[in-house]
Amino acid sequence: MYGYGYGSSYLLIIIGLVITLWASWYVNHNFKKYDQFASRRGTSGAEAARFILDQAGLQDIQINKVSGNLTDNYNPGNKTLNLSESTYDSTSVAAIGVAAHECGHAIQDQKNYAPMRVRAALVPAVNLGSNASFPIIIVGALLGMNHFLITIGIWLFALIVLFQVVTLPVEFNASGRAIKILSSGDLLDSDEVPMVRQVLLAAALTYVAAAISTALQLLRLIIIFGDNRN
Ligand SMILES: [Zn+2]
Repeated sequence: MYGYGYGSSYLLIIIGLVITLWASWYVNHNFKKYDQFASRRGTSGAEAARFILDQAGLQDIQINKVSGNLTDNYNPGNKTLNLSESTYDSTSVAAIGVAAHECGHAIQDQKNYAPMRVRAALVPAVNLGSNASFPIIIVGALLGMNHFLITIGIWLFALIVLFQVVTLPVEFNASGRAIKILSSGDLLDSDEVPMVRQVLLAAALTYVAAAISTALQLLRLIIIFGDNRN
C-alpha cells in the first residue's frame, strides 16, 4: 500500500512539471512574439512607466534599469520600479505591457491593496517553510515516521502553497490595472491593447502553474505520509 501510494504519487510531480514547463514556454513565446511589435507611438518601457506613475501621483518613485531577462519588479521596500534592460529601452508592445504591469504593483502599494499586504506579511513564514519543511519531514521520517514532525513539515510546506495562492490576485490585479491604463489611449493605440493583454495573461499563467505545481507536491506529501499515522 505504501509502495503503491509512493509510486503513483510521482505522477503528481510530473504533471506539475509539465504544467510549469508549458507555462514558461508560453510566456516566453508570447513575450518574444509581441516584443517584435514596436508600438506606433514609439514610447519606451521606461517612458511609459514614468508617464503612468506620474499620472497616478507617484512622481517620487524612481525607475531603475536592472540586468537580466524578465527581471522586472516593483520593490515596495525602497519604492523603486526596476525594469530589465529589454523592457527599459524597448518600444515594443510587450515591453510597455510589462512596464505598465509593474506600475500596477506600485499603484497597489499606494492604494494599500489588501492582498499585497497579506502577501508581504506571509514572506517570513514562507521563507521558513521553504527552508525548514523538507528537513523537518526527513528528520521525522528518519525517526521512525514521527507523526508530529512530519505534520509540522507538511504544514510548513502548505504555507508555500498559501503564499502562491495569495500571489494570484496580486498579479491578476496588477495586470488588470495595466490593461485599463493602457486602454485609455495615452500610450497605445486600441488595436495594440489586445497584444498587451495576451502577454500579461501568459505571464499570469506562470503564477497559476507555480501554484498548481506546489499544490500537487503538497498533495503528494499528504499521500505519502498520510497512511503512516499511528
Ligand atoms: Zn507582477
